Amino acid sequence: MMEFKATIGGKPAPVGSGFAVLNPATGKEVGRAPNMGEAELNAAVAVAKAAFVSWSAQSDEALQRACAAVTAKIEEHAAELAEIITLEQGKPLNGLGSRWEVGGAVAWAGYTTGLSLPAKVLQDNEQGRVELHRKPLGVVGSITPWNFPVMIAVWHILPALRTGNTVVIKPSPFTPLSTLRLVEIMNEVLPPGVVNVVTGDDKAFNLGAAMSGHPDIRKIVFTGSCATGQKVMQSAAATMKRLTLEMGGNDAGIVLPDADPQTIAEGLFWGAFINNGQTCAAMKRLYVHESIHDAVCDALAAYAQNIPVGNGMDEANILGPIQNRMQFDKVSRLVADAKGRGRVLIGGEPGEGLFFSPTIIAGLRNGDALVDEEQFGPALPIILYSDVEEAIRLANDSPNGLGGSVWSTDIEAAKKVASRMACGSVWINKHGAIQPNAPFGGVKTSGVGVEFAEEGLAEYTDIQVVFA
Ligand code: NAD
Repeated sequence: MMEFKATIGGKPAPVGSGFAVLNPATGKEVGRAPNMGEAELNAAVAVAKAAFVSWSAQSDEALQRACAAVTAKIEEHAAELAEIITLEQGKPLNGLGSRWEVGGAVAWAGYTTGLSLPAKVLQDNEQGRVELHRKPLGVVGSITPWNFPVMIAVWHILPALRTGNTVVIKPSPFTPLSTLRLVEIMNEVLPPGVVNVVTGDDKAFNLGAAMSGHPDIRKIVFTGSCATGQKVMQSAAATMKRLTLEMGGNDAGIVLPDADPQTIAEGLFWGAFINNGQTCAAMKRLYVHESIHDAVCDALAAYAQNIPVGNGMDEANILGPIQNRMQFDKVSRLVADAKGRGRVLIGGEPGEGLFFSPTIIAGLRNGDALVDEEQFGPALPIILYSDVEEAIRLANDSPNGLGGSVWSTDIEAAKKVASRMACGSVWINKHGAIQPNAPFGGVKTSGVGVEFAEEGLAEYTDIQVVFA
């Protein structure tokens, strides 16, 4: 079993007996994480606040060099981090799994390192000179979910560091181990107190709630469910924290009548089933025109048939188990309900433990639970439509607005449909392909603010305007 330490102020914090972290593929304990409370959180925030004074006083070049060193450290430990992710999260080492996740983390860290937010001159004339400067905020609190523990931690930590902030991160109780190790690795090249980690089981004490109300945390960057994000926003009000909230989605894909079912089947499958569907911007509802509906169903089911599902430590597998019992029960409930309403094309039955083979169910409609709720698992509902206007209306009939996609051989026609979808990102002939140079965020209840690119970086700063 692996040993994990929490790093606070550059040193390992006292651990106690901690709480168990389970391997979702076997149900066995893979390691223990410290079960921390208010005292440890206060200690972490205090050292981060103290470290902010000298960290934020550095030149932009020095911050950039430090972020480059952090990026190199992550890359150096890529194989080790990938293995921890597979053991605690369940996604395979192979395919779009844990090695891919760590590769993404390195790419994001490197790109973010290269960004900068130079001062802007807004006016320079006989009436005076006006400059816009970006100032770091102070201590940033990062709260992460269990689906991409390392990649999302990097999405939160690197822009905070790059802009001169210090960090206290709190991973999900389901996947704390890779974050504990990630922070330990980062601390090999960072001054003490710049990045700290706290972990807890969310039972006796809710660290995330305490962070959201903490007077010495100036910003919360949160990735997780809509319900929890709303609580973060409420708790943050008293101290007027800056917020970036990346929350749930129920992304729709629309297949137009001119799409080629064989060509799009692979993209549709991975758009929906990446990380077993446990992905914020996965395709969670698929609207298919009646003229090609059956051909798309057949092509998708044929593709899904050949996907090896199993323990992610085995290189042969490219999908793993569902990450936790709560999520497994949710997917099971939604699939059981959908089976009574639609036609199962493939899957439909829970497997052993937390395994659930990829499930595709046609003949469903808006109003059915599998269509209306975020399943966050390996089950895709297909909805037949006859009129594109109707498909756009049904796709937009959701409180969420994270991503969307349009599938067609006519790119210009697809872009016209895409522009009418109420979501923060929209893709043509693919789904969920995010990248570090493009801002990413949700509209409606899917979030507040964006991550990535200059726009995302700016969210870790306050503006100060200097009138001379
Ligand atoms: P969750 O909301 O249950 O938990 C997220 C984090 O919040 C965890 O660290 C948890 O411990 C913490 N938390 C729990 N109670 C809290 C409270 N009262 N205050 C503050 N923090 C609290 O989410 P999850 O189940 O871990 O993740 C799945 C959800 O995340 C899905 O809805 C998914 O769509 C969403 N997600 C969104 C994005 C995005 O970028 N938009 C990315 C990944 C996941």
